[in-house]
Amino acid sequence: MFGFYNKLLEIDMNKKSFAINSIADEILLETLGGKGLATHLLIQHNPPQVDPLSPDNHLIIATGPVTDTAIWGSCRHGVFTKSPQTGYYSESYSGGTAAEYMARTGYDAVVIKGASSEPVWIEISEEGAFFHSAQDLWGTGSYATEDRVRAWIKDNRTDAENCGVVCIGPAGENGVAFAVIENDYWRSAGRTGVGAVMGSKGIKAIAFWGNKKRELADPESVKDFTRKFSKKAKDDKGVLNYKTMGTPMMVDVMSGVGSFPTRYLHKGQAEHRESINASALHERLKVFPNACRRCFIACGRLATVKQGRHKGLKIEGPEYETIYALGGLCEVDSIEEIAYLNDICDRLGLDTISAGNLVAFTIEASRQGKIDYDIDYGQVDKIAGLLEDIVFRRGIGDTLAKGIKTVAKAWNMEDQAIHVKGMEPAGYDPRILKGMGLAYGTSDRGACHLRATFYKPELANMIDPDQIKGKAEMFAEWEDRLTIFDSLILCRFYRDLYQWEELAAVIKGVTGLDMDKERMRSIASAITDNTRRFNMREGLSPAEDHLPERFHTEALPETGKVITREQMKQLLADYYEVRGWDTEGRPPIGI
Ligand code: SF4
Repeated sequence: MFGFYNKLLEIDMNKKSFAINSIADEILLETLGGKGLATHLLIQHNPPQVDPLSPDNHLIIATGPVTDTAIWGSCRHGVFTKSPQTGYYSESYSGGTAAEYMARTGYDAVVIKGASSEPVWIEISEEGAFFHSAQDLWGTGSYATEDRVRAWIKDNRTDAENCGVVCIGPAGENGVAFAVIENDYWRSAGRTGVGAVMGSKGIKAIAFWGNKKRELADPESVKDFTRKFSKKAKDDKGVLNYKTMGTPMMVDVMSGVGSFPTRYLHKGQAEHRESINASALHERLKVFPNACRRCFIACGRLATVKQGRHKGLKIEGPEYETIYALGGLCEVDSIEEIAYLNDICDRLGLDTISAGNLVAFTIEASRQGKIDYDIDYGQVDKIAGLLEDIVFRRGIGDTLAKGIKTVAKAWNMEDQAIHVKGMEPAGYDPRILKGMGLAYGTSDRGACHLRATFYKPELANMIDPDQIKGKAEMFAEWEDRLTIFDSLILCRFYRDLYQWEELAAVIKGVTGLDMDKERMRSIASAITDNTRRFNMREGLSPAEDHLPERFHTEALPETGKVITREQMKQLLADYYEVRGWDTEGRPPIGI
C-alpha cells in the first residue's frame, strides 16, 4: 500500500531475537498507521492487566505514512505502551530528527517485548535488530548516551549517512513512573512514563539508520502541497508568533485570562510573570529559533544562559509547560533557574510537567507538616536536590518516583492532589477553560492537554470558555481531527493550517486513498473507542473521568471561578453521547 512499508519489526528482549512480519493492507486502511496502528497492536499483543514494568508489557515505537516525506510538521514519532504512571493506555510523541531515521529502516512500527537481564542498546536497520552491551552506558545521562551511541554508528557503519538515537536517562533505568525517552538531547516522548518501560526492558538506547524510502501515491501533489504551505505560512499570524516567541508566549496569554496555574494551582497568576515569560527568556538568554526537520514554524528555542551562576548553560527550551510546572506551580521566579532545573530533568530523563507538579505537592506537604522535609516555594537548590532524589530514589524521592497516586495516599493528601488517572495536568486551568476539564477527564492517558488541544478554540473565542451545553460536539470534532494527526503523526502546531480538507489532500497524496471528513472522523472515532476499550480492560471506571475535587471547591482568587461538579457531569454525559458510548462511558463491544 502506498505510504506504508507494510512491515513490522518484532523484537524479543528475552531471547535477543527479532522477526520481520508483514502488516495487512486492511489494518492500515482502518488505522492510517501511527496511533491507530500502535493501538491495534497494543490491544493484540498486551495481555490484559499486565504489570507495566513487567517483560510482558509491550513497547511500541511507530512512525506514520507522512514520516520522511516533504509534508511540513511530519518529523515525529510516537511511543505506545501501558503506562506505569497511570496503569492505562500510554502514548507519547516527540519531534526533532529521529523519526526520519526510524522511517528509513523500512518498518511502520517496532514492537518490543521481554526484558534483557543485562543493559543493552539496540541498533535497528533494514536488516533487523542488533544488540550491543550497554553496561558502560548504564547510569550515564541522556546527552552523553546519545553522543556515544551516535559516535559508534558513525565509526562502525559506513553505510549509515547518520542515525536517529532515542535513549533514557537514569530516571528510566530506575523505574521512575514519569521517566521520558529522549532524542536530539532535548526532545522527549515526555509523558506517561514510557522511559521507565524502556528501562524495565534493560534498553538504554535505540539507534535507527537505513536508506529505505516509502513509495508515495502521488509525489507531485505532495510537493505542490508543501510549496503551497511554505508560501501561505509567511503571512500566518500564528506561525509568526511561534517563530518569534516560541511556546513561552503562552505565559502571558494564560496569565491574561487568569489561567496560569501557580502555587500548586492555588492561584491563576504569578506575580513574577515578567521574569519567566517569553520576553524574559529572549532578553536574558541568547536565543535562536530551532526547528524539527520538515518544519517552517520553528517553535523551539535554542537558548544559552548569558550571565549568573548558570552562565553558558545551553538548552532547547524552556517550553511553556516546563515554565508553568517549575515557574508557576513551584514559583521559581527566574527564567535562568527554570532553564537550570529543565536541564537537570532532561539530563536525568524526567518529565518536567510531572516533576514540577510533584515538587509543588511536596512543598504543600512540607508546609502543612504532613512530611518532615524542608522545602518551600521558589527554593531552587532544594528543588534541584529533590529532583535528583527522585531519580536515584533516595529518601522521599523513592515515594515520589512512584507517581502522584501513591504519594497522595502515603501522605494522606488525596483530597489535595491534582491529577486525573494518575497523570498531572498541563498549564491550562479548567476552572477558566471548561473544555480543558473535559479534555483532562476523557483523554486516554490522564490529564492531557494535547489530545484535543481545546485550549486553542477556547482562547481564540471560537467558543465561550464557560459554555457547557453543546461543547462536547465541538470538542469531539477537534479530538477526531487531532487523532488523525496522531495516526499520520503530524505536529500539533500545524492544527490551524491542516483542517479536514488539507488532511484529505495529505492522505490522498501519500497513500492514494480518497477520504472525506466523514470517513476520517469514523477512523478517528474507532481509534478513540479502542483506547477506551483498552483502558476499560485494564480496570478503568467512569468515576476516574472526573476532575480532582479542588477544581470544584477551591475558587481561583483572581477570578472567583470554579468548574462545578454539575458542569463536569454534563460535559461528560454529552461527550459519552456524542461518542456513541453508554451512560457509563462504555463504547460498544468491538475489540
Ligand atoms: S512547530 Fe515546533 S514541535 Fe512542531 S515540528 Fe516545528 S519545531 Fe517541531
